[in-house]
Amino acid sequence: MNFCRTCLLAGLLLAASHAGESARTLLVELRQVPAELRASGGVVAGEAPYSYDSYNRDRVLSVIHDTVTTLATPAEFAEMRAAGLEATVLMESDDVLTLVRRGFYGPAMRPDPSYHTYDQIVAKAEALAVAHPDRIHRVRIGETQQFRRPIHAYRLSNRATEPQDRPAVLLNAAHHADELVGVEIVVTLMEKLVRDYGADPEVTHWMDTLEIWLVPVVNVDGHDIVTSGHDPRWRKNARDVNGDGVTRVYPEGVDPNRGYDFNWNFGGSPHPDSVSYRGSHPFSEAENRAMRHLAEMQPFVLSISYHSQGEVIFYPWVWDGKPAPDDAVIRPLAEAVAGRIRTMDGRGTYAVSPGGPSSQSYAWLYGRKGVIDLIVEVGKGSHVFPPEVVPDLIASNLEGVRAFLARAAGPGLAVRVRDAVSGEPLAAQVWLPQIENETVDRRHSDARFGRLWRPLQPGSYTLIVSRAGHTTRRLDNVEVGPGGWTALEVALGRE
Ligand SMILES: [Zn+2]
Repeated sequence: MNFCRTCLLAGLLLAASHAGESARTLLVELRQVPAELRASGGVVAGEAPYSYDSYNRDRVLSVIHDTVTTLATPAEFAEMRAAGLEATVLMESDDVLTLVRRGFYGPAMRPDPSYHTYDQIVAKAEALAVAHPDRIHRVRIGETQQFRRPIHAYRLSNRATEPQDRPAVLLNAAHHADELVGVEIVVTLMEKLVRDYGADPEVTHWMDTLEIWLVPVVNVDGHDIVTSGHDPRWRKNARDVNGDGVTRVYPEGVDPNRGYDFNWNFGGSPHPDSVSYRGSHPFSEAENRAMRHLAEMQPFVLSISYHSQGEVIFYPWVWDGKPAPDDAVIRPLAEAVAGRIRTMDGRGTYAVSPGGPSSQSYAWLYGRKGVIDLIVEVGKGSHVFPPEVVPDLIASNLEGVRAFLARAAGPGLAVRVRDAVSGEPLAAQVWLPQIENETVDRRHSDARFGRLWRPLQPGSYTLIVSRAGHTTRRLDNVEVGPGGWTALEVALGRE
């Protein structure tokens, strides 16, 4: 192609600035778009005319490699052709929903069948459980806000029918409905863990030493709106916010990743039309309450929440310029996972970035529950990715899962708190005053086993273990070794 790139850039930016004057009735595909005219960057749009913006579905729908799918006015389309771009009108319609369905779903106007519906996921998990009842166990953690569909978690281990006194990790997906690839990663992992147990030594080791919990779809109603072919833009849950009895009308709903009770009022948007509407109050949404129920029933050490897009891992946190108390553990973990996940252009690996400390899963799970939750933003340049790039996105992210699960093997302290007289396990507060400041809630051992798995860097620590009715104990110079979990038995006498 031969053209003045600077003139082209100026012309296209001018065309974009005239956007409101005429409706974008064309769905246009641009092929071989020069790099300086496109950007498939993170959450904030770049300055190139074909820049992908996560939260704006009014113009550029996707930027995959050098192919751009965009809505356009007839005048904008003429500009593209005049500039020498390889532009094709895929569809013309006055109905934007029809255009975006064609844009994201292709000519079939439905997601590629390789994307699972929730019913298919539940059926697949059932089939795995029938074949291997000892390896996967389903737990209903709640139901959806609008349509009251069950939300399922799955416990995987070599003894999945009973809780095990082991480090537990969580992998969840689809807080955001249109971020479909994370679901496919979790479902692929589910099949791999159950089927390859006993055959693949790495899988066998994970299943023998950990509890691996999966929530393939948090936002079941929203995911259904996308996978049924109704609306590929859907991000939030399906709550009928205005109460008119009409559902599935974009952009209604509440953002399930802005509903957690940790600096809730500083996260998301108070405006119902916003794509990040946080709801009327913390935990207003049943999807968030389901996740809270799970985290309170089963303490986790580590978690991954899959999202799209940006090829970046957000971790807790930077707060008033300060890192999280456990930054010495969190950041190396985020870097280890990110460093294993190839970017779509094949030229690098995922970036890492601390997130702000508000209302999202990672802030709540870490701040309130002591779970190190990483938000993995899978892929770049779309939310509903074309099926041909999905296998690579899954494969590269499963490499990240290996680094994630490796950290669940330690180092850290495996604290077990018991009653000194009866020997019964105790739920007790386990405070590390050198690390945990006022920004995080105190951590506790769990009532079932008296256990707290506390990931730490090797070193020497002070612990203060306390429980009402028992004598507080202070333990100084507790050494944490470099490999595996260091066991620490703590017996509390009665007052
Ligand atoms: Zn998301």
